[in-house]
Amino acid sequence: MRQVIIIGSGPAGFTAAIYAARANLKPLLMASSVETGGELMNTTEVENFPGFPEGIMGPDLMTKMQEQAERFGTEVLYDDVVGLDLSGDVKTVTMGSGAVHEAEAVVFATGSAPRKLGLPGESRLSGHGVSYCATCDGFFFREQVIAVVGGGDSALEEATFLTKFASKVYVIHRRDELRASKIMQDRAFANEKIEFVWNSEVADILGDDAVTGIVLTSTVDGSTRELPLTGVFVAIGNDPRTHLVHGQLDLTPQGTVWVDGRSSRTSASGVFAAGDVVDPTYRQAVTAAGSGTVAALDVEHYLAARGDAGAPTADAGEIDGRTAA
Ligand code: NAP
Repeated sequence: MRQVIIIGSGPAGFTAAIYAARANLKPLLMASSVETGGELMNTTEVENFPGFPEGIMGPDLMTKMQEQAERFGTEVLYDDVVGLDLSGDVKTVTMGSGAVHEAEAVVFATGSAPRKLGLPGESRLSGHGVSYCATCDGFFFREQVIAVVGGGDSALEEATFLTKFASKVYVIHRRDELRASKIMQDRAFANEKIEFVWNSEVADILGDDAVTGIVLTSTVDGSTRELPLTGVFVAIGNDPRTHLVHGQLDLTPQGTVWVDGRSSRTSASGVFAAGDVVDPTYRQAVTAAGSGTVAALDVEHYLAARGDAGAPTADAGEIDGRTAA
């Protein structure tokens, strides 16, 4: 049995792993079978992660985090978690391969996924003019005409932020009334670079190698028109990845995993959560990393209170004929 299993390979997961490994907890980190590294794998240059004044490519940053975690003894498993039992003193983690792993503590750091429009042009041009993160990519749209899709706080916050770079920012909203808070609305209405396009849905995103425009459909009369532009920021909400813990951990009204105050303690003893899956607001690589640190320290205190922090980890064994580590 492991002392701690970390689920998730983004900045929260790998930072928790670095701290847990340095505390001699020999963590096992579950990365996805498809892609290790989380949302930063979809980003180009990261210019706001402290310590990299020249910037660093998102995938390179994640590779470095993984190397650092492995250097101190983290073991990374490339398989999908398909089931969890977090109820007892011993937690079980079931993998896509059928292997079942046991641990005294679990760090749940599965992140969140930006909601997608679901258009073919959106996936084709993602990273080539289509973005889900203004603070990550806004800088690349200096003096360009771009659009933000959505009518909530995220959309208006992103649109307002993007006016620092872009020459014009359209906000495309499917209704004639915003969901965003009044203060965000007032700020956006007062910004001369922002133009609202009401009652409109994005029907297509145009361009072969880079975005050249969008097709808009009126939600009032169904008419369509094209709008030439070079960037589309989709800000229609984010969904924390919590499907594995439904019914096992308490969630907040926003759908994130509930944690106790500034700690990472969830509603289940021995289960800690970190990163975007607990954060409906900030969602930055550096805040996720900080939250991973909190989780690892909380795990250390939890295991110390049980009297076994720093104890040697058992070798791999078998449970009911299935592989366990
Ligand atoms: P949100 O409040 O759920 O708003 C999502 C927006 O996207 C809505 O306007 C919605 O339209 C639109 N939308 C959803 N699906 C769509 C689709 N398929 N096509 C077109 N439009 C679609 O999400 P959010 O803006 O990310 O905010 C999430 C939470 O974080 C909120 O509680 C928000 O207050 C908070 N937040 C706060 C701040 C801040 O205070 N600084 C900043 C960001 C976020 P409808 O309105 O028609 O449903």
